[in-house]
Amino acid sequence: MRSFERKNIKSMVGYTPGEQPEVESVIKLNTNENPYPPPQSVADVLSQIDVASLRRYPSPSARQFRKVAAKLHHVKPENIIATNGGDELLRLLLTTFVEVGSPIGVADPSYSLYPVLAAIHDSPVRRVSLTSDWELPDDFAEQMNAFGVKLSFVVNPHAPSGKLVPVTRLTEIAQKLDGILVIDEAYVDFIDPDQDYNSIKLINQFDNIVILRTLSKGYSLAGLRFGYGIGPARLIEPMQNKTKDSYNMDLISQKLGVAALQDQAAAKRTWQAVCDERSRMVLEFDQLGLTSLPSQANFLLVEIPSECAGGAEALYQTFKNEGVLVRFFNEERLKNKLRITVGTPQENSALLQILKTAINK
Ligand SMILES: *Cc1c(COP(=O)(O)O)cnc(C)c1O
Repeated sequence: MRSFERKNIKSMVGYTPGEQPEVESVIKLNTNENPYPPPQSVADVLSQIDVASLRRYPSPSARQFRKVAAKLHHVKPENIIATNGGDELLRLLLTTFVEVGSPIGVADPSYSLYPVLAAIHDSPVRRVSLTSDWELPDDFAEQMNAFGVKLSFVVNPHAPSGKLVPVTRLTEIAQKLDGILVIDEAYVDFIDPDQDYNSIKLINQFDNIVILRTLSKGYSLAGLRFGYGIGPARLIEPMQNKTKDSYNMDLISQKLGVAALQDQAAAKRTWQAVCDERSRMVLEFDQLGLTSLPSQANFLLVEIPSECAGGAEALYQTFKNEGVLVRFFNEERLKNKLRITVGTPQENSALLQILKTAINK
């Protein structure tokens, strides 16, 4: 058999998604979905979609969504691009701003899709390790510049640690970077409101910042595949008018995306519930002698010493056997930890019950 794949595609390894079981009864605390369903307002819009309206192409620019998102974030529609999941935005950033074969930069460890997208683009990945406290090193920007990187990714709040980088630090980095800083804010909605985090004003101060948002986590719509970018018009425009698929957002998505963003009250109720449960889980783990990092996301990275229930990997398997999925990463800094999504109070209590039994065995 001949192979027609490009050389880099043939040699690369694809993305490994988290397990997505078919059975509904599994308690799914492995891929950081919102545990609450989307609101009635979104269900209503869905039920009112007339199939006949699918005969026509949708708005190529997701016009209405861009307007609604711009209003929400106090920016202009030109500062917004709607994408098929945040993942499409990541791909567009590479396609639009990185010469094929030129390196991209990531804070390490972080989202494992970045290296996959880089491999597709035939670009090497330059990694700057986070400190032992999961913080960006002081010379993050200098290191990226020395590598000649033109696109750097920072997840904030960070995954998988949940650590939040303050806006002042992001400002310093953007100022120093020769290239674009992508702030991947997939988990931004779960930041404690007390933290007063707002990075969006940076897009008016810098020409090299793009912020990623998604409806997958905060808005309970991972199944819809809806993300968006916020950035200076000069960065949004080439993605919007040149590199994205001409009709990247289908009509149903556009309507539901608008409805979801417009119902802030409903979304905020779920964020608060998740924050409350996150606090409870930190205390519960603590009482069991397990430490977790202070998280501003909807998950906790919990350290599992080897003497506790056989260690992280064994405990992952125990949870799985009992119908609870969590995330185990077989990587240097992570293999003694589990990343556990914050679920509903009932889901979390079920997990704790299994944990207590496993510890006492
Ligand atoms: C979930 C996630 C995204 C985007 O996911 P989509 O479902 O494609 O919107 C981006 N970055 C990180 C770190 C994520 O966890």
